[in-house]
Amino acid sequence: MKAELIAVGTEILTGQIVNTNAQFLSEKMAELGIDVYFQTAVGDNEERLLSVIDIAAKRSDLVILCGGLGPTEDDLTKQTLAKYLGKKLVFDSQASQKLDDFFSTRPQYARTPNNERQAQLVEGSIPIQNVTGLAVGGLIEADGVRYVVLPGPPSELKPMVNENLVPLLSQDHKRLYSRVLRFFGIGESQLVTVLSDLIDEQTDPTIAPYAKTGEVTLRLSTKATSEAEAIARLEGFESQILSVKTLEGKALKELCYGYGDDNSLAQTVVNLLKEKGKTLTAAESLTAGLFQSSIADISGASQVFAGGFVTYSLSEKAKMLGIAKEDLEGHGVVSAFTAEKMAEQARLLVGSDFAISLTGVAGPDELEGQPVGTVFIGLASEKSVTSIKVVIGGRSRADVRYIATLHAFNLVRQALLSDEILV
Ligand code: ATP
Ligand code: MG
Repeated sequence: MKAELIAVGTEILTGQIVNTNAQFLSEKMAELGIDVYFQTAVGDNEERLLSVIDIAAKRSDLVILCGGLGPTEDDLTKQTLAKYLGKKLVFDSQASQKLDDFFSTRPQYARTPNNERQAQLVEGSIPIQNVTGLAVGGLIEADGVRYVVLPGPPSELKPMVNENLVPLLSQDHKRLYSRVLRFFGIGESQLVTVLSDLIDEQTDPTIAPYAKTGEVTLRLSTKATSEAEAIARLEGFESQILSVKTLEGKALKELCYGYGDDNSLAQTVVNLLKEKGKTLTAAESLTAGLFQSSIADISGASQVFAGGFVTYSLSEKAKMLGIAKEDLEGHGVVSAFTAEKMAEQARLLVGSDFAISLTGVAGPDELEGQPVGTVFIGLASEKSVTSIKVVIGGRSRADVRYIATLHAFNLVRQALLSDEILV
């Protein structure tokens, strides 16, 4: 089904108001799985409104008009639609009663013939009652095209859409259901490359990749008549995607860390730690607390995180973590040795199950001969102390620090999911 939105109001064309109704309606149509192909704005002018309705009627199955249902002279949407369809305007009894009630309790307002128009509908319409205002809206079908008229004020339009229009339109339509898969450890271009067959063939479900700093998401969407039908289809499609291999031969399943628009790696790690009853600490150099701050952003973090260290300088690494200065100088602060020592000591000092450490070169200048973006991340558990080296190339200082924390969270995630390292 192809839908089109027409916002009526000269104030939109002159820039006095922003057409937020179009955004709201488009969002609602997307949720219903109805494709909006056009959005138009037209002034309060009968001739131009007629021409816009005529264009819409020829290319769309659903035409939603908003604005111009009020009592003033320039409010002419219903009259114009009636004229276009060759129909009369008739009174809706419920809306007329509302007008009667309104004016009987407000004798100070003069009731003019214009007010009556607010209770009128194009003959044959299904009324869409207006709980927060006086102008009734309506839905009418003519020659295979459905027309909807709604008032302009968002405070009236929104409840009418949510409570009346959505149920009317969803009766015979499929809704759009989406699932977002979140990946870490693969770039958008590689993900799109390895999924190119599925992307090229997509019809329903569809795949939409989206690159964020340091990670990529895939939105899978399907149109279905029920949630169960959608889940079944999305589940099948998801397993097809996750079984695809990266260019290095890893299954995408290993790189998919979670679901949803708002779920972060930090959130995933905190959830896993809670689930397994484990605790985590950190000793941070280049990230200077960013990793720990990301943990604290998540509610309930205190169950898994008691505290940690920010050891920016060599001397504080030595002093706070009790590492021999000569060893740090001998190996360099940007080294696997330092990362592992920092993690090991942090874990022992705090008494947690796991410890992460981050030491590296945030930039803009290189350090100890190591290029910007070189980061060593240590992971200590009761059983082992390990480290990884990552090189985050071509990024700003802020991005290097942020992406380094993502690698650190991913390291903990992998450890929590692997029985080998589990304490
Ligand atoms: P009223 O009874 O208030 O006259 P109406 O249905 O005739 O309502 P308009 O006269 O077109 O609607 O607009 C009334 C007010 O509603 C505008 O001044 C504006 O604040 C808001 N409005 C109208 N159209 C839109 C739109 N497309 N997006 C956001 N707000 C709008
Ligand atoms: Mg008006």
